[in-house]
Amino acid sequence: MKALVKQRAARGLELLDVASPALGPNDVRVRVRNTTICGTDIHIYKWDAWAQKTIPVPMVVGHEYCGEIIEIGAEVTGFSLGDRVSGEGHITCGHCRNCRAGRRHLCRNTIGVGVNRPGCFAEELVIPAVNAFKLPAAIDDDIAAILDPLGNAVHTALAFDVVGEDVLITGAGPIGVMAAAIVRFVGARHVVVTDVNDFRLELARKMGATLALNVQRESIDDAMRQLGMTEGFDVGLEMSGNAEALREMLRTLHHGGGVALLGIPSEDIAIDWNQVIFKGLTIKGIYGRQMFETWYKMASLLQSGLDVRAVITHKLPYTEFAQAFDIMGGGQAGKILMDWR
Ligand code: NAD
Ligand code: ZN
Repeated sequence: MKALVKQRAARGLELLDVASPALGPNDVRVRVRNTTICGTDIHIYKWDAWAQKTIPVPMVVGHEYCGEIIEIGAEVTGFSLGDRVSGEGHITCGHCRNCRAGRRHLCRNTIGVGVNRPGCFAEELVIPAVNAFKLPAAIDDDIAAILDPLGNAVHTALAFDVVGEDVLITGAGPIGVMAAAIVRFVGARHVVVTDVNDFRLELARKMGATLALNVQRESIDDAMRQLGMTEGFDVGLEMSGNAEALREMLRTLHHGGGVALLGIPSEDIAIDWNQVIFKGLTIKGIYGRQMFETWYKMASLLQSGLDVRAVITHKLPYTEFAQAFDIMGGGQAGKILMDWR
C-alpha cells in the first residue's frame, strides 16, 4: 500500500510502498478515505526535539482519518464490512485501574496511533476494533476526518458549564476555532478568542466568536469594555500553549472561574498563583477525548446542527502531501484534508 513514512531521522516524510499492517483477532482493517494534518504531524515532519525522542523510525504517521472497514478480526463483534468509521487515536491498555473503571482517557499506558504505532497516512490502517467509531449518516467523510481534533475541542469546551457564561479562548488554531463554534452552539453568551495570526482570527469570527482579538494590537480589557463585561470571564479554554496567553487568561477570569488547559507549552510556565488562590479558580488539564463519551457527544452535536465545516480550509490529494505540510506549517490554514481515494 501507499503510505507517508518517516523513513529517516530527518526533516520530511516519504511517500513509499509498504506492507499493509497485520490484522490481529481484535482488530479491524480500515481502507482510509480522508485524513487531516494535526500539529503533532507537523512536529514529526519538522523532526523537532520532541519528535526525535518520541517517534520510532521507520514509521507510518497520521492519526486523523475516516474510512471504511474492509476486514474484521476473528474475535470482533459489532462491526460489519463496509461500516464507515473514524477512530480514537489513543490506544489504551485495558487492564490498568482507570481502564477497568471505564476511565480510559486516564489510562497511564496510552500509546498513540501514528506516534508510537503505525498511523493513518496510508491506504490502509489497522486498529483495535474498540477504537473504531461507527459514523452516523449525518456526518460526511470530510467532517468525519476531523473528529479527533473536534473531540479535543468538545472535551475542553464542555469541561465547565458554559451555558449563559462568558468564555475566553486563547489560541485560534483549528481546535480553538472549533471550540468557539461549540461553546456558541451550546449557549455561551460572549465568546472572545485571541491569537496573533489574523488569518486564524478571521476563521474564529466565521465560526462564532463574538470578538476575535490580535493580542499584538488589542487587549482583552478593551474587548471586555466593548462587550460591557465588568467582572471577567467565567470560563477560559487555553488552546495556544503560550505562557503569556495563560497569564492573561488567569488575570481576566472572574472569581470562581474555570480554566481548561489543552494547549501544550514547550517549556515551563511561571504563573501568578495569587490569581488562582484568591479568585478560587479551578484548573483542569485536558488530554485527548473522553472514551468514548466525547465521541457520542460530538456526534450528537453535529447531528443537531453544530457546524464546523469552515475549519477545513484546504483539500489536496495525498500525493501533494509536501505542499499540504508547507501550507499547514505556514499557519495560513485551518485543517488541511488529504484525500486517499
Ligand atoms: P495550533 O498550534 O495550530 O494553534 C495554536 C494557536 O495559538 C496558533 O494559531 C498560534 O498563533 C496561537 N498563539 C500563539 N501565541 C499566542 C498568544 N500569545 N495568544 C493567543 N494565541 C496565541 O494548535 P491546535 O492544533 O489548534 O491545538 C491547540 C493546542 O492544543 C496546541 O498547543 C496543541 O499542541 C494542543 N493539543 C493538545 C492536545 C491534548 O490532548 N492536550 C491535543 C491536541 C492538541
Ligand atoms: Zn489503561
